[in-house]
Amino acid sequence: MISKDTLLHLSEVQNDETFQNYALLRKPVDKFPENTGFSNVFRATQDLGTPQIFFLSFTEWCYHLPTCNDTTWPTIATEFCNGTRQSPIDIVTANVQGNANLTAFNFTGYNDNTTMVKIENTGDTVKVSLSDGKMTVEGGDLPGQYTSIQFHLHWGNGSTMGGSEHTVDGKRYAMELHIVNFKSKHNGNLTALLEDSTGLAALGFFIEATNETGMPESWKTLTSYLINITNKGDQVSITDHVSMDDLLVGVDRTKYYRYLGSLTTPNCNEAVVWTVFKDPIKVSHDLIDLFSTTVYVNTSSNSPLMTNVYRSIQPINGRTVTSQLAVTPAPPTTIAPTQGGGGSGGGTSSAAKPFQALSMVALLLYPIFYWL
Ligand SMILES: [Zn+2]
Repeated sequence: MISKDTLLHLSEVQNDETFQNYALLRKPVDKFPENTGFSNVFRATQDLGTPQIFFLSFTEWCYHLPTCNDTTWPTIATEFCNGTRQSPIDIVTANVQGNANLTAFNFTGYNDNTTMVKIENTGDTVKVSLSDGKMTVEGGDLPGQYTSIQFHLHWGNGSTMGGSEHTVDGKRYAMELHIVNFKSKHNGNLTALLEDSTGLAALGFFIEATNETGMPESWKTLTSYLINITNKGDQVSITDHVSMDDLLVGVDRTKYYRYLGSLTTPNCNEAVVWTVFKDPIKVSHDLIDLFSTTVYVNTSSNSPLMTNVYRSIQPINGRTVTSQLAVTPAPPTTIAPTQGGGGSGGGTSSAAKPFQALSMVALLLYPIFYWL
C-alpha cells in the first residue's frame, strides 16, 4: 500500500514509488553505452519512446512561469492534460441537472482531531497529510468507499484576487480546499486508481473571505504553521488538535455539485469523481492573505511567493453537472378577488377562504421542483 504521501497534490504522482521504480527500470536503458562497457560507440540520438516521454511529462510543470504554466501542460503532459474530461470547470447553474441519487455522505473520522499528521510546502501548494485509513467517505452516489489521503489548497493573490479552481457562473472564490480520496478497494495501488475512471474522489470546498480577523479558530491554527514551511520541501508535524469538521465549518455537506473530471495538475489523469460543495467556508481575510504572503515556490525566499496556484477553467465538452433535487414552496398564489372587492387590498373576506384552501391543496399536490 502506498503511503499518504504518494500524492503530493491531486496529481503529483511523480514522487510515487511506482514511478520512482519505473525511473530506475529505465536507467539501464538510458545508460546503455556505459553499461555495455564499450566506449566511443555512439549511436545517433534516438527517440526515447512513449514510455519515457510519459515519465518525462511529470517533470517541471508550474503555475508561475510562461515556460511551464498551465498553457504548456497539454504539451508537457500530452496523454491527459489535453483530454476531454478535464478539471476544473465553470459550473453554469442554469445547466445543472437534478440527480435524486445525490444523497448525504457518510464521513468517518472527520470529527477526529488527531488525523492531521503534517503540513508541507510542495512548491505548488500547501498540503496536509492525513492519518492512514482513519478517514473515509462514502454515500453521495460515490461508487463505494473512499479513503481520505490528504488535503491541499488553491489560492490567488490575497483575499481579493480569487484563486479557487472551480467557478460558479463565472464567480471565482478566494480559495478552494481539495480533499483527495482514493477508492478504498484499490488498497492504494496507484496504477489501479489512475486506470479507474472513478478511482479518486475529490471533495472541493470554496473559501470566502470575511471582514473579521483571525477567524475561525481552526483556520487560525492551520495557518499558524505556514511560517514554518516557507520554502519548497519544508514540512512540519501538526501538533495542534484540529479535525476536518473544524475546517469545514459552516458548510452544509448535503448540497453539492457532481461531475466527472480529472486531476487539476499534470498528468491530469481523468480518474476523478468531483464533488464541489455549494456553501463556502468563511475565513477571515487576514488568514487568507497569509497563503500568498508567507510561502515560496522554491527552496529559498529569493524565489517568488506562491500565488495564483490554480489551473484555468477547462472545456465542459458536453459533460453534465448534477445536483440535488430541491423541493421548494410554490410562489405565493394570487387570491381570487371577492365579489366587488376592489379598493383597499389586504382584507381577506370569508369568500376568499375556499380559494386559500384550494391554493394550499394545490401547493401540496403540485410542488414545484427545481434544481439549485
Ligand atoms: Zn487541488
